[in-house]
Amino acid sequence: MTRFEGKTALVTGGAKGIGAATARRLASEGATVVVADFDEPAAQETAREIGGHAVRCDVTSREDVEAAVEAAAALGSLDLLVTCAGIIRDNLLFKMTDEDWDAVIDTHLKGTFYAVRAAQQHMVAQKSGKMVLISSTSALGNRGQTNYSTAKAGLQGMTKTLAIELGPYNVNVNCVAPGFIATAMTQQTADRIGMPFEQFMEAVSEQVPLKRVGQPEDVAGLIAYLCSDDASYVSGQIVYVRGGP
Ligand code: NAP
Repeated sequence: MTRFEGKTALVTGGAKGIGAATARRLASEGATVVVADFDEPAAQETAREIGGHAVRCDVTSREDVEAAVEAAAALGSLDLLVTCAGIIRDNLLFKMTDEDWDAVIDTHLKGTFYAVRAAQQHMVAQKSGKMVLISSTSALGNRGQTNYSTAKAGLQGMTKTLAIELGPYNVNVNCVAPGFIATAMTQQTADRIGMPFEQFMEAVSEQVPLKRVGQPEDVAGLIAYLCSDDASYVSGQIVYVRGGP
């Protein structure tokens, strides 16, 4: 398929996990992809694999994010923005530190804000663009994740507001909310609770109607749809990808 031929995509957190699967999927359908990540060697590795570009970018830095957006736009246009950069710093409320709170809120909320604000300038000027933000089922509440669930719920509100503000400029903004996806992030949770990752995934699978955990490619497929012209009349939506309702 060549749905993204001639399009440039910026994927934050694109070095690994869901972001890397998204970068691969968009590139496989013709997009020129800029992989922006904290972890520069991993970003370069993903970019090399897909024939894309890598930029070192800490999304909590406005300068880094604006430079990444400019690097993508300099390739011709900035057509697709997918904001996957993310971290967890889980703890029960009484043990959650200011640093745990700030790191998670800054990465997800401020990082996404910087990216959408910089990207909209190009998309509004060219009167076209697609943005996909990444929320989580944790937005609905999850023990030990006051910081993360607050950030992920905030991204749902951001999506709806951006869809209203940017719709008149032919910019679609949608949000994907995954359940358990097998990545370094969920591995980190398994490590924290002291359970082997395979055993953890088996236990989670039991709770999922489709009886398996998600893979990064399951999320990337939905993101690709939302980035495509097939989704040109879809905006402001939160789509859960969790193997069940
Ligand atoms: P992942 O494999 O850990 O990938 C996240 C990537 O973002 C990593 O390369 C990470 O770099 C990078 N990153 C972290 N902080 C950054 C920053 N400040 N600036 C730039 N890049 C940064 O995690 P994932 O599971 O694919 O998660 C991707 C997104 O999906 C996140 O927003 C996450 O909250 C969301 N999500 C994940 C799940 C799940 O079950 N996995 C479920 C729902 C939502 P480092 O590795 O160097 O930190």
